[in-house]
Amino acid sequence: MKTSIATVSISGTLDAKLRAIAAAGYDGAEIFENDLLSTHLDARAIRALMGDLGLACTMFQPFRDLEGLAGELRARAFDRLERKFDVMEELGTDLLLVCSSCSPQAEGDRERLVADLREAGERAGRRGLRIGYEALAWGRHVNDHREAWSLVRDADHPALGLILDSFHSLARRVPSSSIGDIRPEKLFIVQVADAPVLDMDYLGWSRHFRCMPGQGEFPLDDWAEAIRRIGYQGYWSLEIFNDRFRAGSASGVALDGYRSLRLLEGGIEHPASTAAALPPRARPSAIEFIEFAASHEEAEALGAMLRPLGFRPTARHRSKDVTRWTQGDLNLVVNCEPEGLAHSFDVVHGASVCAIGLALDDVPGTLARADAMRIPRFEQALAPDEWPIPSVRGVGGSLLYFVDAASREAMWAHEFPHPLEPAGEARLIAFDHIAQTMQFEEFLSWLLFYVCLFDVRKTPQLDIADPMGLIQSQAVETPDSGVRFTLNGSLAHQSLSSRFIQNYFGAGVQHIAFACDDIFAAVDAGIAGGLERLEIPRNYYDDLAARWGLDPALVERMAARDILYDRDGEAEYFQFYSRAFARRVFFELVERRDYTGYGAVNAPIRLAAQARHKPEFLD
Ligand code: MG
Ligand code: MG
Repeated sequence: MKTSIATVSISGTLDAKLRAIAAAGYDGAEIFENDLLSTHLDARAIRALMGDLGLACTMFQPFRDLEGLAGELRARAFDRLERKFDVMEELGTDLLLVCSSCSPQAEGDRERLVADLREAGERAGRRGLRIGYEALAWGRHVNDHREAWSLVRDADHPALGLILDSFHSLARRVPSSSIGDIRPEKLFIVQVADAPVLDMDYLGWSRHFRCMPGQGEFPLDDWAEAIRRIGYQGYWSLEIFNDRFRAGSASGVALDGYRSLRLLEGGIEHPASTAAALPPRARPSAIEFIEFAASHEEAEALGAMLRPLGFRPTARHRSKDVTRWTQGDLNLVVNCEPEGLAHSFDVVHGASVCAIGLALDDVPGTLARADAMRIPRFEQALAPDEWPIPSVRGVGGSLLYFVDAASREAMWAHEFPHPLEPAGEARLIAFDHIAQTMQFEEFLSWLLFYVCLFDVRKTPQLDIADPMGLIQSQAVETPDSGVRFTLNGSLAHQSLSSRFIQNYFGAGVQHIAFACDDIFAAVDAGIAGGLERLEIPRNYYDDLAARWGLDPALVERMAARDILYDRDGEAEYFQFYSRAFARRVFFELVERRDYTGYGAVNAPIRLAAQARHKPEFLD
């Protein structure tokens, strides 16, 4: 796949954008006219810079309001076109994007449009240049690629071709099967963007909500496959207008874009015909462990919360100040080492989750996939005889370890040979989900990280009401739900998510949910052991009884234990929250009875209850 990105997609000055684009690994870039107008570099200097960076200039764009004008207006539009040709010669690109006219003066007479496009092709051809015609979803007379293609076909000039932009076609739900009618030599370039499905005007939707393939909801796999099927061999160029990206880091957004194009190449939801170019997405089967970084003092406080949850410190690391806590198949690791990543993590963030281990069948394949996605590996010096567990950097600089599922028992035995206490009775049976909180600006980036690396589906995005503002939330889940992450971010300064980030100095794990078979027994044992719970108001239970017509005795059992409840058809969900550990991380117990969600309906209740303990989340 030949990759390109429009400079409008990322933040910064034009030269910084081009450097970021080159560093991310693209083959080329489209120069957006406003970037050219606002830079101190002239077109020749931009050409030289792109040459030095090894970037092709794939296109100059956009040229607006060309076709359908009459008389003096038409003459002026074509003069303007010639002046842009001058710029293109200096820039060193032969392709100009002409988007369908939005001018109120433009007429829709078909013969006039064909004649104007043919003339534009004629003028471009005379100078060795080409014109690509794109139907804007909000174009005045032409707003559908089928119409744009019929005009280009009938204008029939070798220097005139078509540009497909996934946003314009998919926002209008133009069937991708119609791409089969386009001749490949006439498709000059394709522009790619994803977007959430919204009910709003096309212009506002396009200008503010475009996102990268894999971050939105458009059926891009079918669209891209239709383009491959006609034999298209040209550039796949991202054109993303998004307020968050323009406020983000140029290098980070450029890298995300590169990943998203590779994801599209392999197939976002279904393997593409070009999938063989990439190692397949990894399939983690379970969360093997969660590692906390803590000082000794903090480790003691953490232990006082883990014990009532049913965990016991069962073994010590062979050489390090690291303890393994277990319960059934669940493993937690508490790292008190005075140096290394965990220690720096503790210094920066305070006691918190510094790493997550995922069990996988194919660790080398997972690393190959990460490499293909340019996800950096993390390397830390190994002590002699230490079991090597490869890892990459995840949310907030924490680590994601890849544990070989076949040798996991051997790994634990080797790394933690010194027994401590015997394990207790297991009341918790699995890690249900891990909730990570991040800056609103990074939300889509981490969503893409998981979607690129792992075979996960994403749930619809939700807005959850915090007493102090909205929190955006979305989950990624493996097909068998063995591994689930929920991602949360908020623009509101005083929401719990934002307070977490301020207090924590960055993104990280905010809660860990454990699954159990009998939540009442698990909660009773927890409370008896001194676990502090999040108190839920009585009003909630009165409403619950009324809403679901539940057995009053069941409602009273829940109320007595501060257990929350949700229902989806016959499926039921029970949730219980602890108070926060070290003012940051809290634990959740869940019992699922065929329920597949996360109790979003209860999140505002939980957030309001936590807001009552606000100092808990503020230093
Ligand atoms: Mg476009
Ligand atoms: Mg949860």
